[in-house]
Amino acid sequence: MSADEDGAGESNADSALVTARRQLERAAAHVDVDSNVIERLRHPTRVERVSVPLKRDDGSLDVYTGYRAQHDDVRGPYKGGLRYHPEVTSDECIGLSMWMTWKSAVMDIPFGGAKGGVAVDPKQLSERETERLTRRFAQELRDVVGPKRDVPAPDMGTDAQTMAWFMDAYSMQSGETTPGVVTGKPPVIGGSYGREEAPGRSVAIITREAVDYYEWDLSETTVAVQGFGSVGANAARALDDWGANVVSVSDVNGAIYDPDGLDTHDVPTHEEQPEAVMTYDAPEKISNEEILELDVDVLVPAAVGNVLTSDNVDDVQADLIVEGANGPTTFAADAILEEREVPVVPDILANAGGVTVSYFEWLQDINRRQWTLERVHEELESHMQSAWNDVRVEYEARDLTWRDAAYVVALQRVAEAKSTRGLWP
Ligand code: GLU
Repeated sequence: MSADEDGAGESNADSALVTARRQLERAAAHVDVDSNVIERLRHPTRVERVSVPLKRDDGSLDVYTGYRAQHDDVRGPYKGGLRYHPEVTSDECIGLSMWMTWKSAVMDIPFGGAKGGVAVDPKQLSERETERLTRRFAQELRDVVGPKRDVPAPDMGTDAQTMAWFMDAYSMQSGETTPGVVTGKPPVIGGSYGREEAPGRSVAIITREAVDYYEWDLSETTVAVQGFGSVGANAARALDDWGANVVSVSDVNGAIYDPDGLDTHDVPTHEEQPEAVMTYDAPEKISNEEILELDVDVLVPAAVGNVLTSDNVDDVQADLIVEGANGPTTFAADAILEEREVPVVPDILANAGGVTVSYFEWLQDINRRQWTLERVHEELESHMQSAWNDVRVEYEARDLTWRDAAYVVALQRVAEAKSTRGLWP
């Protein structure tokens, strides 16, 4: 890979694509995989770019750009979220789609990787406008998605209701109700119980396993969680329930800090009351930069990408980082943390509970049979534990970082499937 091809040298503004490609190159050096297969995996299979015209409530018209990047489907249908965010770009979707391929593979579920979205600020849209935008976006993506082809899910700026509109638009055009076209739907139309909490729950499960691995006591472990949306809030609350001491949580406006531990169930999540963390009566209020530098045992960046960079990583005092967001650590920051021997448990393992329960949802949709929440929790627990064990074996056997170990597990599975199927024509 030339620096030019990936858009210049090392920088904190690296796109998800630059980071994803660098991570792939690095991990490839640790596995005995045909270099032609690695070359194929550096490129997405397809990137769909569409215009999404929206009639605003005031009668005017705006045209937004939407994307769907499909990275690889050798192990099963493309899978991954749709985000509504002003900074969505083609490169970001490609990088994030690569991470989805590894995420599905590390969990050993039969999906590939995709990601898409619309470059729009959802806060500027009314609910009716969001519905119209979503239905039109679904129509534009109609030919490239489908239950056996590519299955979207919620991501930043989208939720269960967005998936309901997407599924309805697709179904209306198909002439049949097709719940399996998306996951993360409300349970009343074929969604799975426990899907919404799943990414946060898996972050908590993996944090618990990592704490146990380092022979710490969870009840004496202090945790800071950046982001109090569906990933951060569910991770913080589960860890709190299991006895950890969650001392700080944040949202876009800043962080609250209580050295004696917060009652996380009392702090309003983004879903319960948007951007209300700072209204909570806590002993100390700190900034979103300061939460990353707290002297805690575990730091969980669960808000947005690229928050741990070469500019601030030297000030990070946590003894363990568990990635809740996708891509919160830049490639350069990762190298510094490795040098400092601060373990980083990667996103593709830690937050993979989302896509795992998406898989359960997809199975429920195919079978037209809903699982109980208890069953979802049990199956998620056992899937997370076996993925953790697979990664731990590589971590110990090859003396790798946790990220490289997770990549090795994933790459071996994807590469073996590719070699076995072969290249045609
Ligand atoms: N958007 C979630 C992620 O980044 C879930 C994707 C899915 O369930 O397909 O993992």
